[in-house]
Amino acid sequence: MSDINRDSLEVDVLFVGAGPASLAGALRLRQLINTHNEKSDNKLGEIQIAVIEKGREVGSHMISGAVMDPRPMQELMPDWIERGAPVESLVTEEDVSYLFKNRKIKFPIIPPPLKNHGKYVVSLNKLMRWLAPLVEAEDIMLLPEFPGTSLLYEGLSDESDKVIGVRTGDKGVGKDGEPKPNFEPGADIFAKVTVLGEGARGSLTKKHIEKLGLEGTNPQVYAVGVKEIWELPKGRVTPGFVMHTLGHPLPDDVFGGGFVYGMQNDLLDVGLVVGLDYHDPYTDPHRLFNEFKQHPVIAAMLEGGKMLHYGAKTIPEGGLLSQPKYYGNGFLIIGDSASFLNSQKLKGIHMAMKSGMLAAETIFEALLAERFDEAQLKSFKTKVEASYIQKELHEVRNFHQAFRNGRMLGLLESGFQVPTKGFGLFGNIHVEAGHENMQKLHVLQRLPKKAGEFLQAEAPKYDNQLTFEKTTDVYRSGTEHDEDQPSHLKVLDTNICVERCTHEYGNPCQYFCPAAVYEVVESNGGRQPKINFSNCVHCKTCDIMDPYQIIDWVTPEGGGGPNYINL
Ligand code: SF4
Repeated sequence: MSDINRDSLEVDVLFVGAGPASLAGALRLRQLINTHNEKSDNKLGEIQIAVIEKGREVGSHMISGAVMDPRPMQELMPDWIERGAPVESLVTEEDVSYLFKNRKIKFPIIPPPLKNHGKYVVSLNKLMRWLAPLVEAEDIMLLPEFPGTSLLYEGLSDESDKVIGVRTGDKGVGKDGEPKPNFEPGADIFAKVTVLGEGARGSLTKKHIEKLGLEGTNPQVYAVGVKEIWELPKGRVTPGFVMHTLGHPLPDDVFGGGFVYGMQNDLLDVGLVVGLDYHDPYTDPHRLFNEFKQHPVIAAMLEGGKMLHYGAKTIPEGGLLSQPKYYGNGFLIIGDSASFLNSQKLKGIHMAMKSGMLAAETIFEALLAERFDEAQLKSFKTKVEASYIQKELHEVRNFHQAFRNGRMLGLLESGFQVPTKGFGLFGNIHVEAGHENMQKLHVLQRLPKKAGEFLQAEAPKYDNQLTFEKTTDVYRSGTEHDEDQPSHLKVLDTNICVERCTHEYGNPCQYFCPAAVYEVVESNGGRQPKINFSNCVHCKTCDIMDPYQIIDWVTPEGGGGPNYINL
């Protein structure tokens, strides 16, 4: 439907994705403009700033651990606590433990990278829901239910490298691709600068990086975090309690670990991070998370409690060496989309916010200079390099890669990286994209399963008290999509699924998706992929981990997706 008439909107600066990077960036930009206009005779005119968001409201797609480093928040809004920011607690108690199948060994000291003194346990979506009206009050347009479907390039030509805005998604398109009676075409939003803050594996950012060849030294590598919020009997949860675990249930060759964070109101945040560079195609992060909860230590914590909420999200782990070039003609890339995340400390919110704020300073200078080309916007890189986030990223630049040969060697190598400021034993470590580590079944001497077999034969016996099926968890994520729309999970060649993938990898999409979206079913005497797209919690694992890279995650109709609460 490229020939339909679309509304267009012109703004000066457009942020894509209303996460911490964009909200902090938009607010900082407005602060800079206001301060300048109060003091200078050379005032900037009315500067329009907009933030588009695919979720039904700001915060509904936000999910993170989270233990937050408060520095950027304090810089942005020194009185954020007094203004009622919904933090759960300062970190009050810390535990780092190694889990064996039935016991745990607590580390005698907290490893320095995991020390969280002075940090806050937060729920990212509560924080974003709180921040949104404060941003809006500063004359910044927040536009929820506006998913970006493509970047607009100068002259509306794919040949150009100059970004001039974003086309947003149509509403009211049926699953046959035809307009329904409620059809509303998406709009073209034009901007002098477009700032991509879409989070991990952003769908516009992915295509833009490919188109312009902006990739970093390493491909981006990811992990997926799967988590639940539990309500426990009164008085059992210590707000600010922070526990990190290594070991069980992750096999030695799978990167990751567990976490438990104490929140207010008897809520406990429990989750597992699983590296998306594992070898076994039957690896199932959701199932591993359920095994984590069955560990006697974790099960005892959850005893008598009730699971309230569920969510999953991917985490960009590659750090500095996987950073794309994050500036160019008419665009900047911030937050998770540009690999601003400290994988050693398990922290990205402060980096996302700070990168957004540095982008704002860059754009402010560009507005004064009335230039938005690459030469002008390049100062974003200079600002990042002079900031504390660059120092942090530099010191952990080889952290995730250190675990490429398993956990024990990874702990050893990452231990050497601490005194050598990230250099470790080998200097910069090159790695492949995570899906390239997946081994074929014959290499692992495993057999392909019959369609649907894993559901009956291998699934753990979920008891609906401690452990839950994916579909139950999806229900607790609040996920909804109008089913009468085209699937937003584009499998580019379904023949590969049944003719090659079944035999070579055993259709790993059935395992790595934490929301039971993918099934392979027997139909008309053969196998067929079945895609329950309405379950999708937007984690992007399939786009990342499909071994043939034939799954393209695109934005569904605006407002679809999870409705995260307390996550
Ligand atoms: Fe995540 Fe893909 Fe499953 Fe959606 S379909 S929940 S993006 S793995």
